[in-house]
Amino acid sequence: MILTINCGSSTLKYQLFTSDVAQVVAKGMISRIGEDGSYFEQAAHGRSVKESATIPNHHKAFEICIQSLLHPDYGAIHDMNEIEAVGHRAVHGADLFIASTRIDDEVIAKMEACVPLAPLHNPPNLIGIREAQALLPNVPHVAVFDTAFNQTMPPKAYIYALPYSFYEEHKIRKYGFHGTSVRFVSQRAAEVLQRPLTSLKMVVLHLGNGVTMTAVDGGQAVDTTIGFATFSGVMMGTRSGDIDPGLIFHMHRELGLSPDEIERIVYKESGLLGVSGISNDMRVIAEQAQAGNQRCQLAMDKFAFMAKKYLGAFAAAMGGLDCVVFTAGIGENSPIIRQMICQDLAFLGISLDEAKNKQAVGGKAEVVISEVAAGTAVLVIPTNEEKMIALDTKEIAGL
Ligand code: AMP
Repeated sequence: MILTINCGSSTLKYQLFTSDVAQVVAKGMISRIGEDGSYFEQAAHGRSVKESATIPNHHKAFEICIQSLLHPDYGAIHDMNEIEAVGHRAVHGADLFIASTRIDDEVIAKMEACVPLAPLHNPPNLIGIREAQALLPNVPHVAVFDTAFNQTMPPKAYIYALPYSFYEEHKIRKYGFHGTSVRFVSQRAAEVLQRPLTSLKMVVLHLGNGVTMTAVDGGQAVDTTIGFATFSGVMMGTRSGDIDPGLIFHMHRELGLSPDEIERIVYKESGLLGVSGISNDMRVIAEQAQAGNQRCQLAMDKFAFMAKKYLGAFAAAMGGLDCVVFTAGIGENSPIIRQMICQDLAFLGISLDEAKNKQAVGGKAEVVISEVAAGTAVLVIPTNEEKMIALDTKEIAGL
């Protein structure tokens, strides 16, 4: 079996797959690691458990993960040896990793070198890898990088028009994120359409609490909305998305805000939450807009407008468009947002089948929601990053 690990600063999410990655055998999460009120939960073989526990660090969290998988009542396996390989979600691989890779000392050293680029995400990833290696030393461990898929972007897409030395000396460039999700849904979309991925010009809209849009030409990323940090592109739950960078100087000099305060504002107090003044959750915003709240309506209008503009920009960047894919929380569940984004895009061959669009909710099915005669196919494909990690791990571990 294959264990996938997604290790954040205070959470550890895991899934256990059969070796052929056809089935999820167990799914669990350890929350509030190192904080008050920590607990773990797991579902396996139709049985689930949720219990509070003292979990002061990631070492303890991994022990609980393995104990839960082995538990005689609610566990999924009888012996640790049933775990044949471990796949780790890794956030930032900079330009050092263009694909998933088997972890060895050299890989760990390179991941450490990437820490300054993702100071919040890479350290917990590395802790997760070390702890998992200590508990399961005899199986292959594989790192699957969120940034790897975007490494095919050409220099004209990833270079910022700053003095070139900032790229050469400080690795300042566009990296993009959510690559594992985009890779998974773009492959699935080609399979659903029964067309080779290499023949498709595609825009993938990963619209969740974080938002990434990516232009995928022939299966390769050619441009993406998130850049060096994680707040550019389309507005998100609490992140502003694109703003005039000059505003940051203005907020600092004229409004007297410190860099830390500005960072908090653009990451945590902006986006849907900032414009609506109510919530970062599109469900709440859509409900309130329906009830007549103008600020919620504006938040939806701005969100859809930003996404629509990138859709057009990416079609131009690729010189055509065959397929549009919606995924993640909003993309999989919000017919109204999909409709607002796709409205008036007949000139790009986009025309939605209203009934199919309305039915595509719940994040379960892969559905084509465009009209049969439309030149550009529009699909809703539920994302599954864990499955992508497990598939890469299976391949690299040679299972
Ligand atoms: P994710 O980051 O992919 O888990 O997406 C989470 C976001 O999806 C939430 O914050 C909501 O804004 C959005 N979402 C989830 N369900 C719905 C729904 N039924 N309608 C609209 N938005 C939804």
